Amino acid sequence: MEETEWKKDETPYLVFRCHKCKRYLYVKTIQKSKKCLQCGHMHKVSTILKSGEIIDGLTNAIKTVKERQNELALKEMGNRLEFRGSQDFTIVRKQKNKKSQLTNNDNENDYEEKFKKMLMEISKTYKEFPYYIIEVMAENYGIPNSELKILTRYFLKKGFLTRLENYLYSINCKSS
Ligand SMILES: [Zn+2]
Repeated sequence: MEETEWKKDETPYLVFRCHKCKRYLYVKTIQKSKKCLQCGHMHKVSTILKSGEIIDGLTNAIKTVKERQNELALKEMGNRLEFRGSQDFTIVRKQKNKKSQLTNNDNENDYEEKFKKMLMEISKTYKEFPYYIIEVMAENYGIPNSELKILTRYFLKKGFLTRLENYLYSINCKSS
């Protein structure tokens, strides 16, 4: 009679913040440890059980992570992110021609251009921003997650993107 009961997703999950990079994560409470996908910090579940929220079901856990992450992003925008003037962006536009010697295959180039446009878009509003903003924007720009990691690494290497000590990112418009 209660045969459908098992289908209900009531597995308890712990939603918590990474101790190192402060990003929100979820983990099954019966799991022993959880590695942060962003910074690689390893969390022992038994020691963080009291520091988070217990949420029933994977769907709810993911929803909660997104909600908390959104709240956090909004808070960070308000508190930590400096609003940027529009002058910097004008300079970038003038220098655009200097960057045309890049040679990549078409597909990569496509994402690279998109990514660059996206960074420009972000830099119009924020001088410093968390990686989360890049992820959210990439979704809007149709850049797949796998490409995003490669592009981020590449732009960091080029010096176009800079990772700051506090896990925020900034864009160096004057780099070539
Ligand atoms: Zn982390």
